[in-house]
Amino acid sequence: MTPTAPGLAPEEGIRLRIRGLTADYLITSTNAITLDGQLVNLDGQGNRVAAMCFGPKKVILVVGLNKVAPDLETAMARVKHHAAPINAIRLRRATPCVETGLCSDCQSPERICNMWSIIEGHLVANRIHVKLVGEDLGY
Ligand code: SF4
Repeated sequence: MTPTAPGLAPEEGIRLRIRGLTADYLITSTNAITLDGQLVNLDGQGNRVAAMCFGPKKVILVVGLNKVAPDLETAMARVKHHAAPINAIRLRRATPCVETGLCSDCQSPERICNMWSIIEGHLVANRIHVKLVGEDLGY
């Protein structure tokens, strides 16, 4: 079960997020990846980017070609103006992007764009694995 599963009590979502920080494996994706390998992510609560940085022994990222960006600026624009509004719609947030499909850099209490993470490497060798898939996956 994911922490954002419909109908899940808020305290249960928090419990699952905390458990995820000490899991052996984290299997997820990235919001964007640059051609030189920077992993670019934007989180609402920070548990996902926290676990990508520290905690789980192995981090496996399954990434579609649609998330590859030529540089950091393009990657961040992709995350903010494409992935985040779609994610807000998925999560049924009361944010302007849910109505317009566009980011207006809102200050809504339900804003999901709160913590940026740019991962360029890790001191623990072979901890983070990126599996690039030759098709579009996710958003
Ligand atoms: S900052 Fe606000 S409007 Fe922009 S994508 Fe995030 S939640 Fe939506």
